[in-house]
Amino acid sequence: MRPFSVLLAVAVLGQAPAPVTKPTIAVAVIGNASRAMIETVAPVLREAFGARIVTAPDVALPLASWNEWRQQYSANTILDALASAKRPEWDRLIGIADVNVYLPDLNFVFGAADARRGVAVFSLARLRAGADEALLSRRAATEAVHELGHTYGLSHCDQPTCVMWFSNNLSESDRKGTRFCPAHEKQLAENRGE
Ligand SMILES: [Zn+2]
Ligand SMILES: [Zn+2]
Repeated sequence: MRPFSVLLAVAVLGQAPAPVTKPTIAVAVIGNASRAMIETVAPVLREAFGARIVTAPDVALPLASWNEWRQQYSANTILDALASAKRPEWDRLIGIADVNVYLPDLNFVFGAADARRGVAVFSLARLRAGADEALLSRRAATEAVHELGHTYGLSHCDQPTCVMWFSNNLSESDRKGTRFCPAHEKQLAENRGE
């Protein structure tokens, strides 16, 4: 074997194992949201989506998202910022915000998603009411799974315990928890080509 071939063989052996087929979900904090929350939601997202979870660089809260008249932040403008920050190697990017966010025609939202661009956001701001650390963590994980579910093409559910139930308030959010109903579990797998 010539020296060149030996080098080549070493290089090939040194490569990483066959590409992992697990999708990658990146999680970013937006503005001054708690970075510890990434560690809180990561295990739940890992299980719900069978994904590899990575921490994305912080995303600044876009100044343009502030709506003076509403005294709230536009979820759509935050989604635009996330879409700009998203890297091609990430299947999804979800941002954790800690401000009062809205969508047009709604008084407020817990979160929002853009399936076309594969980005989602949820906010801790309205999840703290009456919650200790454990309940806040569960609510955050619930919102994260719900919004990421939308990015995989899932719609709202008529099963009150399915994570895709549309929560009007925190008691509905607490009731539904982080799990998909069997129909949505199936649809999620189909939409992801499994
Ligand atoms: Zn929803
Ligand atoms: Zn469902």
